[in-house]
Amino acid sequence: MLPLVALVGRPNVGKSTLFNALTRTRDALVHDAPGVTRDRNYGVCRQDPVRPFVLVDTGGIAGSEEGLAGATARQSRAAAEEADLILFVVDGREGASALDDAVLAWLRKTAKPVYLVVNKTDGIDAQAALGEFARYGIKDMFGVSSAHRQGLDGLLARVLQVLPGDGDAPILDEDPERIRIAFVGRPNVGKSTLVNRILGEERMIASDVPGTTRDSIAVDIERDGRKYRLVDTAGLRRKSRVEEAVEKFSIVKTLQAIEHCQVAVILLDAGEGVTEQDAGVLGAVLDAGRALVVAVNKWDGQSDYQRQQTQALLARKLAFVDWAEAVRISALHGSGLRELFRAIHRAHASAMRQFGTAEVTRALEAAVEAHPPPIVRGHAPKLRFAHPGGENPPTFVVHGNRLRALPDSYRRYLENFFRKRFKLVGTPVRFVFKEGE
Ligand code: GDP
Ligand code: GDP
Repeated sequence: MLPLVALVGRPNVGKSTLFNALTRTRDALVHDAPGVTRDRNYGVCRQDPVRPFVLVDTGGIAGSEEGLAGATARQSRAAAEEADLILFVVDGREGASALDDAVLAWLRKTAKPVYLVVNKTDGIDAQAALGEFARYGIKDMFGVSSAHRQGLDGLLARVLQVLPGDGDAPILDEDPERIRIAFVGRPNVGKSTLVNRILGEERMIASDVPGTTRDSIAVDIERDGRKYRLVDTAGLRRKSRVEEAVEKFSIVKTLQAIEHCQVAVILLDAGEGVTEQDAGVLGAVLDAGRALVVAVNKWDGQSDYQRQQTQALLARKLAFVDWAEAVRISALHGSGLRELFRAIHRAHASAMRQFGTAEVTRALEAAVEAHPPPIVRGHAPKLRFAHPGGENPPTFVVHGNRLRALPDSYRRYLENFFRKRFKLVGTPVRFVFKEGE
């Protein structure tokens, strides 16, 4: 599954700055969409798009913490213990401190590979700063400036070298007919109930998929003559007590499941609307560019009045993913499942759709004709032609001039125009803008 890298270090050395620099998606449209919230501790680094990994920004770890800080420290340690690689971040301006020494002492007790990241080396002698930490005896040292994005490429290249390859070949080398689904959502929305309901209905045609690594579990099923794989799905696995205690950990599982699916079904609890945690899961689906179906669960428990309220609330809160279909279900009673699977099929078909260059360029021409790009400082950006750039999600490459000046509102307009014209539902749509021919 996706490898896990933990950032460890005392407060103020720049961990969260580094975390942001590494996890920020290039796709600003997606990243800044109103309504998306992101977990500030867990993210996926996609600087190398074919080798994503999960990054955890841990809090204090030094050991003397009490109360809330103590709980954070425990979580940080647990995260570091799960990690494939630890980046020990220190402050190159301040040099080694007693707290750094304490973190090091703890790290020595883990058997994990540790790299030393000497941050804030902008405007100072990086070699001298590294020299300060030579006595730590950590072989791999990197001088970086997270704030100025200096030295990150070298660090990243080395990280990618040592991370285990994605052990998910059996999941990705797949029968094209088989749709990979992940059921995601925060604890208690009903994922296990839904999965067991689906598996129960199939009378166990389900079989564990061999060859998946670690504790990832996938199950293949058939339903109405169609083939599916439920990937890394909560509910297939009995939660261990540790996992329940360190609930944060399901976030890593969720990120992995999203990465490996084609269609993410996010479960919401009809009685609770869209919580911040729900919005965080939605953000992760958007970042990954996955097709999306919203399953509003526990619909059975709602009065007519509540149903109306819920509908209105969801429409408002989910406006930023209004292209996704929302299906009302009851996992408990098994209602709405047929409609759910229909929506999954529609989303999958849209996500995997193949386009021809001619139809894409015609769509661009039609969009520009209906609504030309606005003039910015006396010049209008010129959109010349377009061609398809891939599937899952559907990607369109647009060539032209002065594209940097295209306002976000116009990018959104293009997205909506293409969506309508090609009847794309349930999938994000990406545009890549290329300057010149
Ligand atoms: P954290 O507590 O380890 O997560 O540290 P933060 O990321 O919050 O950073 C602490 C402070 O250091 C902030 O004021 C940052 O702006 C600053 N900082 C972070 N990275 C750099 C850097 O590369 N160079 C400089 N000069 N300052 C930085
Ligand atoms: P998970 O943590 O997302 O896997 O959630 P569970 O499947 O364990 O469900 C959490 C609780 O919600 C359990 O008590 C379920 O019985 C209940 N639940 C799940 N689905 C439904 C539903 O459709 N209607 C109602 N009323 N309760 C449900």
